Amino acid sequence: MHSPNCILKVVIDTPLRKIFDYLPPANIDESILVPALRLRVPFGKSKKVIGLLLEVTDKTGIPRHKLKRVESVLDSEPIFGQELLYFMQWARDYYHQPAGDVFLGTLPRLIRTGSNLEVSSIEKWEISEVVEKQTSEFLKNSPKQKAIYDYIKSHKQPLTSGQLSDVFTNWRIPLKQLERKKLVSKVTQENGISISNKILSDLKLNPEQEQAVSTITSRLNDYQPCLLYGITGSGKTEVYIKCIQEVIKNNRQALVLLPEIGLTTQFINYFKSRLGLEIAVMHSGLTDRERLNTWLRTRDGNNRVLLGTRSALWTPFKKLGLIVVDEEHDLSYKQQENFRYSARDLALLRAHQARIPIILGSATPSMESIYNVMQGKYRELCLGRRATGSRLPDILIKDIRGKNMTGAFSTSLLKQIEINLQKNEQTLLFLNRRGFAPVYMCHDCGAIIKCPRCEIRMTYHKSTGRLHCHHCGHQERIPGQCPQCSGENMIEIGHGTQRAVETLETLFPKARISRIDRDSTRRKGSMETMLKDINEGKVDIMIGTQMLAKGHHFPGVTLVGIIDTDHGLHSADYRASERMGQLIMQVSGRAGRGDKSGMVYIQSHFPDHPLLLTLKAHDYKQYSSLLLKERADTGLPPYTCQALIRAESNSKERSQRFLQEARQLLAGSGISHDVFGPFIPPIEKRAGRYRMQLLLQTENRKLLGELLAEWIPEIEQLQSSRKVRWSLDVDPQDML
Ligand code: ADP
Ligand code: ZN
Repeated sequence: MHSPNCILKVVIDTPLRKIFDYLPPANIDESILVPALRLRVPFGKSKKVIGLLLEVTDKTGIPRHKLKRVESVLDSEPIFGQELLYFMQWARDYYHQPAGDVFLGTLPRLIRTGSNLEVSSIEKWEISEVVEKQTSEFLKNSPKQKAIYDYIKSHKQPLTSGQLSDVFTNWRIPLKQLERKKLVSKVTQENGISISNKILSDLKLNPEQEQAVSTITSRLNDYQPCLLYGITGSGKTEVYIKCIQEVIKNNRQALVLLPEIGLTTQFINYFKSRLGLEIAVMHSGLTDRERLNTWLRTRDGNNRVLLGTRSALWTPFKKLGLIVVDEEHDLSYKQQENFRYSARDLALLRAHQARIPIILGSATPSMESIYNVMQGKYRELCLGRRATGSRLPDILIKDIRGKNMTGAFSTSLLKQIEINLQKNEQTLLFLNRRGFAPVYMCHDCGAIIKCPRCEIRMTYHKSTGRLHCHHCGHQERIPGQCPQCSGENMIEIGHGTQRAVETLETLFPKARISRIDRDSTRRKGSMETMLKDINEGKVDIMIGTQMLAKGHHFPGVTLVGIIDTDHGLHSADYRASERMGQLIMQVSGRAGRGDKSGMVYIQSHFPDHPLLLTLKAHDYKQYSSLLLKERADTGLPPYTCQALIRAESNSKERSQRFLQEARQLLAGSGISHDVFGPFIPPIEKRAGRYRMQLLLQTENRKLLGELLAEWIPEIEQLQSSRKVRWSLDVDPQDML
């Protein structure tokens, strides 16, 4: 029974950090009111919104007569369990983010809009079995039907309406006609769940893998954070699979988190066929209905394994038994907008609360994780050799100072590519810059064309004949003449992936070249197709950005060329060298994974740089200890903790004033800290708004938490805070 003064604490989707107080609906048995129910509540002048009940209490700071009543209760029981609720509460307290972003923003959209919480079926279409063997020739008079038929046919699995909409417009009518002709049929199935019909048998683990698995599985009922530190190709996936099998035997579920780029069909299929059971997936490409279904089925314990990108962390489980975070160093685990959180860091907390093991896997762990091993917080499990017995590639650092270059390539790298082509072996080239040329300038006066909204240089994309701003997406036609001096000698400086392809095409006209970057893979499914072509040997040279560097298995690649590393060695951002080292190790890991051994070619103007030399020796441990020493000497994370406040507005002064006032508030605090700024970030203006930042640093997490808890509510009270757009980033990963 609740007291007659029953007050409901409700989360509502607003940018405020506040929780709202309401009275229960009239004429309701108050005993049914428990946390995690959805409520419809009046909000503002005349709006009705859906909120989440957090707590039932008798306390409120607001006079009773001013409180509004909840209009209705949407659910008869909590939509998820206490475990997830505590987890969200903790995440909110740690990151100090608006409650709506944490409690509502992490739920499937259909839950937030008040949908009925039932698993419902999804329409999918497949080629009818009867006519499977016929060609689509007889559809040649109906090109749209033929296109749809061919498209469905080219996929092994039935396609959803969402997938068809990605490729076709107005496809429903031609599809109906195909159904009528019995060429295509509708299958109705619950999403996400499919069992592979091809089951692969277990591999015999090598002693290192055996050791890792037995350490993890010997204590399945305890929080046990493990860093699985295994070189590329050492068989980390096999360790995950063995541990998951054990967890499933104990009737529990497993959550596997992957970086955004890692969740490929290839990976999912491999998991399915190794585990031989249902695998559910959760990622941004799902339709709202699919996402809700997966969420519900996982909550109810109807799937054993959930593979997903960072948002999958917010799924309720009936009985979670293990979390795996693959490629734990990957930056995509950090959400960079709205609710800024690190899915890797929160996964550790979730495992802690559920008292289960968690495996962080990487060939190139983050400095944070290595530091935690040093502190005795994580257990380190090493896999030091390649599971297939193939050798690690030789890494050569090529001094390009004063050397002749053809486009972005040195003569010696081109020679190697040519040799590789003659041997019919594949080459992978890594150039972390998309577009044609990063600078478009006037040869007469030196004016550089910049984005009018961000004031930074724009990249020339030859394919579109336009200049693109890679920060805000702004595009414009290339000017025929210089806007400054009206000269007509506009030139392109530097090399992006598009230009590198052009160079290669001129030099190797017969080679089959594939470019993989954000532009070339924009269309859904195109990345999959390219990867497939590569693995089927239909590509001789692939060139790409970091999309190509991560996680993929290319057995045919024997030569890897790294075109440009120098900016990573000399960047203003102290994390740039960590990322460069990780990328070089990851890219190098792509070479020689098959039967033939590989070679890695690094072009550099700094061939004697100590960091490059450790990478040449495949010694990421030494590399990371150099970096950690640097961080310790300069008092940077992980030796300290940081929080960054970003402010932006269309006036420079307003952003600055707000941050200055915020800084002044800190002066009264008795909690020890350092504060830097307000300062101008490397990108001063973005999409027309001026940006400013304030950096806060403390000796440890506890101090940071206490300081933020006291400071953030005060900042929210500042008049000047209402005149800017501001956000807080705890443990920032970049200062952009
Ligand atoms: P990682 O994720 O550590 O880079 P993978 O898990 O992709 O490595 O494994 C690399 C290759 O080694 C895969 O082809 C895998 O099938 C194979 N492999 C893994 N473990 C074994 C084993 N115990 N015996 C034989 N081959 C193995
Ligand atoms: Zn811009």
